[in-house]
Amino acid sequence: MKISHIEHVGIAVPSLEEAIPFYENILGLKCFAIEEVADQKVKTAFFQVGQTKIELLEGTSPDSAISKFIEKNGGRGGIQHIAFAMADGVANALAEAESKDCKLIDKAPRKGAEGLNIAFLHPKSTCGALIELCEDPKKCN
Ligand code: ZN
Repeated sequence: MKISHIEHVGIAVPSLEEAIPFYENILGLKCFAIEEVADQKVKTAFFQVGQTKIELLEGTSPDSAISKFIEKNGGRGGIQHIAFAMADGVANALAEAESKDCKLIDKAPRKGAEGLNIAFLHPKSTCGALIELCEDPKKCN
């Protein structure tokens, strides 16, 4: 498996509307995209930091993974996942992980925000962190 860089860090927030001004006014970043990913029941906002992005995530339904994360975290947001850009594509990385007995949340790549192929590894196999494998936007998989 070959990781080219950290594609993004996913941060759960109770409200994008309340969180975006902190990232823009205090950290001086610029939100360049807001997107709803219906099948993940989230709304996302993106900020570029070097070649890495910050992905803010707000749940759009009480049964979304983000809403559950915030509920478990006492109603506060926090870092929810880290996404690596895969130099050789997501499907190859998943096949390799599975061949090494890593549990997968996604058996096959699916479309995430920005139309990129993504897949999640299961936290049971990653010592607790939620890890997303992401298509490198500069390459085609
Ligand atoms: Zn993500």
